[in-house]
Amino acid sequence: MKLTEHFKLDEFTYSLTASRLKIDNSIPAALMPNIQLTAIKLELVRKALEHPIIITSGYRCPALNARVGGVASSAHTQGLAVDFRSPFGTPKQICQRLIDAGVVFDKLIQEHNQWVHIGFSPTHNRQIVLTAVKNGGKTVYLNGLA
Ligand SMILES: [Zn+2]
Repeated sequence: MKLTEHFKLDEFTYSLTASRLKIDNSIPAALMPNIQLTAIKLELVRKALEHPIIITSGYRCPALNARVGGVASSAHTQGLAVDFRSPFGTPKQICQRLIDAGVVFDKLIQEHNQWVHIGFSPTHNRQIVLTAVKNGGKTVYLNGLA
């Protein structure tokens, strides 16, 4: 099912962990408006990067989210966040470009220099920018692009 010009529903539900563990990661009807909003926002991200986006983690049902170690309040469980990579460049270059282009987001996280997390709010986008790094085996979030 096509959501927007460049994004399909499958891209938001696909999870290797979910298929391996036989977790049903399909999206509840009540969250479809959130997924649709996220897809629309991701078109703007794609436009700013002028490159495709590869979603590595989109929607996570609570069971899947727990298995991948996500915090219970994760925007992924609301269908309002994705993790992605892009041939545009490194996670830091991607984040910098999105900031410079004035893309609206609630939270943008450069994750361990491996992927980008972007989250949106239907009502109040806070433009929070963080960098996730490991510190003594634990993930800590630094303000801004470190
Ligand atoms: Zn994420």
